[in-house]
Amino acid sequence: MYQELQRFGRVKTNEPLAKHTTFKIGGPADFFVVAEDKNNLVALLRWLDGEGAAYFILGGGSNLLVRDEGYRGVVINLKNAMCEVNGALVTAGAGCATVEVARQSIQAGLTGFEWGVGVPGTIGGAVRGNAGAMGGETGESVSAVEVYRSGEVVSVPGSECGFRYRESVFKRNHDVILSATLALEKSENKEGMRKALENLQYRTKTQPQGYASTGCIFKNVEISQLSPEIKNKIETMYPEDADIRRFFTLGKLSAGWLIEASGMKGARAGAAAVSERHGNFVVNLGAATAADVLSLIERTKEKVYTKFGIAIEEEIQII
Ligand SMILES: Cc1cc2nc3c(=O)[nH]c(=O)nc-3n(C[C@H](O)[C@H](O)[C@H](O)COP(=O)(O)OP(=O)(O)OC[C@H]3O[C@@H](n4cnc5c(N)ncnc54)[C@H](O)[C@@H]3O)c2cc1C
Repeated sequence: MYQELQRFGRVKTNEPLAKHTTFKIGGPADFFVVAEDKNNLVALLRWLDGEGAAYFILGGGSNLLVRDEGYRGVVINLKNAMCEVNGALVTAGAGCATVEVARQSIQAGLTGFEWGVGVPGTIGGAVRGNAGAMGGETGESVSAVEVYRSGEVVSVPGSECGFRYRESVFKRNHDVILSATLALEKSENKEGMRKALENLQYRTKTQPQGYASTGCIFKNVEISQLSPEIKNKIETMYPEDADIRRFFTLGKLSAGWLIEASGMKGARAGAAAVSERHGNFVVNLGAATAADVLSLIERTKEKVYTKFGIAIEEEIQII
């Protein structure tokens, strides 16, 4: 296997995935291949499919919790990082950092993706999870996504990507995203730079600094999905609460708020803790294990359910 894989990129064996996740958590992958080039990546995927081998696509590892046992199979780390601006279209390889896509679009005088300056990880990961911030979402700008699907390279129009809040068809199928094209708008002023700076300042103020994490653990809760009884219960529990009024106006109940209101801020398991600064972040205090984080996740879900009757769902991928 090792020798065959070398035909497609740099290969490591028994590679600790903690080295490749922003959480700095995760056991070893049997094989770890760095794919820097689209053609090699497609050839590798075809070969692995032909062999019936298990594989996992790793972007920036910023939305992942890898279990302590690691991954039995081939982890493919996407590093195809090209990014091209053509008029108001920006096309980036799936392995290009989302921050870099945002930077290049702002530099080219385009508007619509400024919020991307604060989102870690790759554009492939952002498309799959419909990443978003400051009211913007990746899916709003995607005009087409090039994917590897059952041996073929296929272009999927943005309208067929099934984007919803932190969702896309790519979370439900086996497509590997190879590149994405964003359709942005020309902007005559310097608003882009200002918006990007505001976004970064806001994040520094509200998110924990100096600890490894994987961003928000849970999705916010769509208020339209709540039963009338639960909505009433929350409104009765917090009649004067300005946050609650804002959430109801925006249509999403903040998972961080629910976690804080359930008394979980600061809760610890081993070397993992629910951040004191942002209830939806779990921070790695040093040598946290995936087991520590998983036990905090379970406790948090239980507490929120007991207090509000709401089953919060993970935003992160757990492998
Ligand atoms: C400090 C911090 C702040 C964050 N803030 C935000 C935020 O504001 N908004 C937000 O939405 N997210 C945020 N996140 C989460 C994360 O940055 C995003 O979800 C990001 O888009 C994940 O991209 P990635 O490349 O790191 O994906 P990874 O973590 O590498 O992978 C996540 C999942 O996507 C799959 N995947 C990755 N690339 C591909 C591909 N090319 N084809 C098919 N599947 C693929 C993987 O297999 C995995 O299942 C934050 C994370 C951190 C650490």
